[in-house]
Amino acid sequence: MDQIAINRAGCTEEFHRAGEHIHLRAGDGFPIRLTRLSPTKTSPKKPTKGPVVLVHGAGVRSNIYMAPVEKPLPIMLLEAGFDVWLLDWRASIDMPPSHWTLDDAAVHDYPVAIAKICEISGASEVKAVIHCQGSTSFMMSIMAGLLPQVSTVVSNAVAVHTIVGPLARLKLLYVTPAASKMIDHLNPQWGLYVDGFLPRILDWLVRATRHECNNAVCKHSSFAYGTGFPTLWRHENLSDRIHEWIKGEFAFVPMTFFRQMGKCVKAGHLVSTGKYDELPADFVAQAPRTDARFVFMAGEMNACFEPEGMQKTFDWFERHAPGKHMYQSVADYGHLDIFMGARSSVDTLPFIIDELER
Ligand SMILES: [Zn+2]
Repeated sequence: MDQIAINRAGCTEEFHRAGEHIHLRAGDGFPIRLTRLSPTKTSPKKPTKGPVVLVHGAGVRSNIYMAPVEKPLPIMLLEAGFDVWLLDWRASIDMPPSHWTLDDAAVHDYPVAIAKICEISGASEVKAVIHCQGSTSFMMSIMAGLLPQVSTVVSNAVAVHTIVGPLARLKLLYVTPAASKMIDHLNPQWGLYVDGFLPRILDWLVRATRHECNNAVCKHSSFAYGTGFPTLWRHENLSDRIHEWIKGEFAFVPMTFFRQMGKCVKAGHLVSTGKYDELPADFVAQAPRTDARFVFMAGEMNACFEPEGMQKTFDWFERHAPGKHMYQSVADYGHLDIFMGARSSVDTLPFIIDELER
């Protein structure tokens, strides 16, 4: 029911017409999807550079990278000569709703997706752009040594050290565990189509307490992912068109994820659920099992995760390989507006491409 509300017309033309969709099964049989972008009129006919995969966050889909900005990151990467792949992992709202954890994706989704990209492209190395919970789960996978083919990673918003503001911390540590006894998921689509008693109560709460804009999905997203007004972007950085487009891009997100993130926030860094032998219990207790170079980006105005966490992650990696990695603070930007800001193709995205080209 939740998924039906998603407005597929929200997908940009490029995504549907110019991509080759490859449906595959994760290690545990869960369906995931790769989309390999085809050349555009303004890009080289054949890639002149290796593959780069873009990994979305929780409760969205790979189309989040294709916001109606002047030129979205995947198209800029195509024009720069990259072989561009979008991954819809199990948290994607285009996949069946499930009660996933970061561990499930780390162990089952990314190793299969990266191996498939190498197999089809013939490349031995893959670069990656990872955001938010696509970043935390991907970091778990690569730090556990499960992604030896990945050579360069640009991570945005949060990677290993999970630090949120005081109110968001209280919410994750005390409200979420209590709420998850009554409800097993949240869905920003409840702002448009509310279904059931508890979703109705939550919708009422959102409407009664949030007056930052008139977009109910925007407000539900802020409610689901933190305590900001808004949480996931600065309204100042979005165009009216992008703000409207958001309505079709946010849906089901399970409480299993929020419970795990609460434990990570309590620990101050990523911790696994203990379900898989492949993953360490504590991700900062040993050196990372990867030779990749990491670029850690954080918007200075991020209201979802504190930029301090990214700085800590950089410091930790720096201790293990001095001079290899990079931290980039982005002034005037928040969380997702790094990719979907009206001026992102000028302000933030060229930096990502420069780093992938190094
Ligand atoms: Zn809004």
